[in-house]
This record gives sequence, C-alpha cells and structure tokens, in this order.
Amino acid sequence: MNFAGMERVSLVDYPGKVALTLFTSSCNFDCSYCHNPELKEMVEEKVGQSEVFEYLDKRAALIDAVVITGGEPTLRADDLIPFVESLKAQFPAVLVKLDTNGWNSDILREFLDIIDYVAVDLKSLDYEQFSTVNLKQIQKSIELVKTFSTHEIRITMFPPYVPEKDFEELARMCSGASLVSVQQYRPVAGFCESPPYSDSVLGQFADLISGYVQNVSVRK
Ligand code: SF4
Repeated sequence: MNFAGMERVSLVDYPGKVALTLFTSSCNFDCSYCHNPELKEMVEEKVGQSEVFEYLDKRAALIDAVVITGGEPTLRADDLIPFVESLKAQFPAVLVKLDTNGWNSDILREFLDIIDYVAVDLKSLDYEQFSTVNLKQIQKSIELVKTFSTHEIRITMFPPYVPEKDFEELARMCSGASLVSVQQYRPVAGFCESPPYSDSVLGQFADLISGYVQNVSVRK
C-alpha cells in the first residue's frame, strides 16, 4: 500500500492525540468546496508502507495515532485493510482513525473491526449534486458508524448542499450519535465562492443537533 502523502504530525486530525496523517488519492465525489482537489484523481503515490513503519518505529513514544484520509480511503480497501492489519500487528499501541465520505457501508463495515475511530461525512440530503451515490447509501453508513464505539459525523456547512430548510432532517439523521462536528465551509478562490453561513447560523444548527446527540462540536 502506497500513499499520496504523509503529514508528519498533527494535533487536530485525531482529537486529543498526536497523529501521523496518511493521504490516499482518488475520490468518487466531486464536492465544490474540496480542499484537497489534487487528491480527487489518482496520483503517483510515493510514500510506501516501509517508510510509514520506519517513521513510526523511530518515534514510537511520540505518536499516538495514525489518521487515514483522502481522497476517499475506502476506495483502496483491498490494499488498505492489510496495511492497517500490519500496522496494528507491529504497533499495537498506535490508534487508527479512518475518514470516509460514507459512500459504501459494506466496505466500511470491513474496517470497523480493525480501526479505533471512524469519522463519516454527512454532506447533504441531495448527494446527486456531487456524486452518483444516493442518500439511502449514506444513511446506511451513518447508522453503521453509530454502532462503533468511537465515531464522529462531520457536517460541512456549505449552503448549497446544506440549505436551512434541511437542518431539521439532517439533525434527525444524526440521532443517537456520540459526536457530531459542524464545520464551517471555507470558500475556495476561483472555484467555490458561495458565501458561508454566519457563526450564529452554525450555532443555531448545532443547538438543533444537540437535541438528538450526546456531543456537538462547532469548528469555525
Ligand atoms: S469527498 Fe472529500 S476528498 Fe472527495 S471531493 Fe468531497 S471533499 Fe474532496
């Protein structure tokens, strides 16, 4: 398994942990606000398993976790599952988090026994704007993720995907989750310049969600 990139140390990708972040390339969605557009397509992936393991080996006392993100990592499940199994065998103390857009619950299920934390996106009620996946498939992933001991549902507040008329339904879909992160959307100059919601709208949405879930965090 090779990766498109490795971010050497992050304190935000795995909440409360010092994490090494690995990026896979290629994604089956086409979100207007994507901040990793270079990873939407398959690119040459130069960071190999041996480089990752060597890095962890040298810093075993310093790194708590590995975060696998993309692109969409689960598109690479055939290679990624054996990679995570080897990582866990060699570094049992290192926690593993997987970020996913939630496109396929069957594939996601295969990861849940081998990772420690899963974060799934809930992007909209209308996935046809940016993917060939329908909402039912996403709902299955959301329900699956809720069964996982450490999980997070992430909602990026891009007004065209998350209109205010959908807030109530989106909040209901999160019902029973232990953590929902409401993330401010950041315009991308030249590509995606819709104005973001105000902080107060984000706060109102977070309040609505808090009626259904244990914890809500707002990332501005
Ligand atoms: S799912 Fe993530 S990586 Fe894929 S296009 Fe959307 S924002 Fe970008």
